[in-house]
Amino acid sequence: MYDLIIVGGGPAGLSAAIHAARLGVQALTLEQYPVAGGQMVNSVEINNYPGVPNVNGVELAFRMREHAESLGAWFRTGTVKSFDLAGKVKRVQLEEEELEAKTVILAMGTEHRVLQIPGEAELNGHGVSYCAAGDGPFYQGSDVAVIGGGDSAVGDAIFLAQCCKKVYLVHRRDRLRAEKTLQKRLFRLPNVEVIWDHLPVSIEGENQTGALRIKNVKDGSERTLHLDCVFIAVGVRPLSSLVKDQVELTAESYVLAGEDCRTSVPGVFVAGDLRRRQLREILTACADGANAAVSAAEYLSFTEGQEGREAP
Ligand code: NAP
Repeated sequence: MYDLIIVGGGPAGLSAAIHAARLGVQALTLEQYPVAGGQMVNSVEINNYPGVPNVNGVELAFRMREHAESLGAWFRTGTVKSFDLAGKVKRVQLEEEELEAKTVILAMGTEHRVLQIPGEAELNGHGVSYCAAGDGPFYQGSDVAVIGGGDSAVGDAIFLAQCCKKVYLVHRRDRLRAEKTLQKRLFRLPNVEVIWDHLPVSIEGENQTGALRIKNVKDGSERTLHLDCVFIAVGVRPLSSLVKDQVELTAESYVLAGEDCRTSVPGVFVAGDLRRRQLREILTACADGANAAVSAAEYLSFTEGQEGREAP
């Protein structure tokens, strides 16, 4: 039985692994893919992580993973099928094996939202992408569109403008949600055209995207943009379905916990984008990982010293 199982290999999970190792907690981190890295691997350029300006997401993930391993952290690749978190022994069911632990940190993060418009699913991987960092280089010299107005969409548009001929940023309002420094960089780029107040209606093409149909939300008029790829960056949703009946969630399905990352179930903690919080950055995910590991260590030392009494 492990002291702690950390579910998720993004910045929250990796930070929890680093802090657990430093605290002498025997922790196993489960990653869905080897050197997973979570959502940060989709960022080509990270500029808001202190001490490492202009770092690529894959590189930062790799460095965090190496850091954890250097402290003796254990990793394993595996997809969780179900959890049983209520009892003193926490059970984590993988495809072929059940793991047991005294504590669990939920750090599964989020997944990208979809638009649910005609053509999106059919052309996914053939001119529809949710990852500009990975797929952008295949569209050198092409015309492409990015959908969304947040940090991800604007960051993607800036990245794509380096290799694509023309980048349309299609946003449903007349103001961007993205942080101001990103906006300033975007507006300086000559090959980016922001199309305000428009929603995507359909993505068109036989076996490969050839056009995007968009609609003006103010007057209802429609037009077609001829292009080779549509990059969708319309936000994320929490990966909480496996724990929805076991820990308390918000109306938006984020796990409820305070700064100490304790969930409604003793011995179960949550860290990173899965937790309800104001600011979603790599930095805040790492802070959560540290807090969750410290809370788990406190819980372990209390329960070990106070067998039979109620846990804190
Ligand atoms: P986000 O901030 O939720 O932005 C989503 C964008 O998509 C919004 O502009 C939204 O429009 C638009 N949108 C949502 N549903 C849509 C639909 N059905 N059709 C068309 N447009 C739609 O998501 P995000 O940019 O992925 O960022 C997620 C979180 O990660 C945020 O907290 C963000 O700050 C953080 N993040 C941080 C960094 C960084 O630290 N540098 C980088 C990336 C992401 P409205 O504006 O009208 O709502």
